[in-house]
Amino acid sequence: MQVKSILNRIQLQKGFVYENVHWLNVDQTRALGVEIRARKGSRPKCSVCEQAGPGYDVLPKRRFEFVPMWGIPVFFLYAMRRVACSTCGIKVERVPWAEGKSHLITTYKWFLAGWARRLSWKEVAEAFQTTWDNVFRSVKMAVKWGLQHRSLDNVTAIGIDELARRKGHKYLTMVYQIESSAKRLLWVGKDRTQKTLIQFFREFGQKNTARLRFVVSDMWKPYLRIVTKKADQSLQVIDRFHVMSHFGKAIDKIRASEARELKAKGEEPVLTGSRWCLLKRPKNLTDGQAVKLQELLHINLKAVRAYILKEDFQKFWTYKRSAWAAKFLDAWCRRTMRSRLNPMKTVAKMLRSHRSYLLNWFACKDQVATGAIEGFNNKANVTTRKAFGFRSIDVQKVVLYQTLGDLQEPALTHKFC
Ligand SMILES: [Zn+2]
Repeated sequence: MQVKSILNRIQLQKGFVYENVHWLNVDQTRALGVEIRARKGSRPKCSVCEQAGPGYDVLPKRRFEFVPMWGIPVFFLYAMRRVACSTCGIKVERVPWAEGKSHLITTYKWFLAGWARRLSWKEVAEAFQTTWDNVFRSVKMAVKWGLQHRSLDNVTAIGIDELARRKGHKYLTMVYQIESSAKRLLWVGKDRTQKTLIQFFREFGQKNTARLRFVVSDMWKPYLRIVTKKADQSLQVIDRFHVMSHFGKAIDKIRASEARELKAKGEEPVLTGSRWCLLKRPKNLTDGQAVKLQELLHINLKAVRAYILKEDFQKFWTYKRSAWAAKFLDAWCRRTMRSRLNPMKTVAKMLRSHRSYLLNWFACKDQVATGAIEGFNNKANVTTRKAFGFRSIDVQKVVLYQTLGDLQEPALTHKFC
């Protein structure tokens, strides 16, 4: 059997013919060269408007990289024609196997992108003797295709979150679909400003926005205002994950300043190494941490009182009816306002001023995958950490969409991987 009959089966090119296959030297490596020519009488298509036109001239032969066979690199060799397009002028022809100026064959890009779902981009580049850049371009193409071909018709609940891009104050705004039946990353935007969120709604479109029933986010008035303005019909909800992370930050502050005070007084550093017992839920503590927590509870420290207030607040989420939860919330806030723990009082004030959004939680918690934002937040953090070194926002976006976007791939004639 000849290589070209395999090629005709897995990648038939309308209007083009595979010719002989021969050895080729590429950067001192033996490769296979597959000669391609245009079918006799076929007219080249303009790469801009895709209309066929009369040929103008022929450019020198170019190499296009294909999926390697038996560990041997494979290249298509083709001399591209130029078209005298009646609309666009003299243009290079469009070939079915590659996009624009790409020297990678589209099938090969899907091949690399497929592997990049399973391995790190660096590993993919090493395994197939290609460059990191080529893997990136391939994934970028796959993401672009996936975004263009996804349907947003079924989105009724979204969650808005932020993600630290790297150290310092660089953030991304993330928007997720958070229904039990469909959870995916919908959108990534630079920064976490009002402009970012407005940009999301603009790209999401009025039709899709009108279908939203729940919008879940953190407590931040400017965001909430924009959601009210853009998606008035939706119920705005502040979720458990975000609320509890404010408690974590408050306890951290109290613990750190108290540890400093104790140290200044020359007292036992009881708070050293206690951070995790104060942030974790009791059931998640390791044995050593549980012992440490027991120790801490014996002393009436501010950090411990704050911890108890936080643990007590967890009860809020367990109510079946929002009226009862409201009663609990008010009582908890009153108690906390008397606690003389300033960071906790700040949390209480914040909860009070977002009271109605908090209570909306009870209307949505059975219909929305409320834990999804936290899950995505963790995954997104791992993803960006793994992608460290990828400083550019373009690369970070591609990685995030690739990992969390649940994007589809086209049905190709042949599945290479
Ligand atoms: Zn044209």
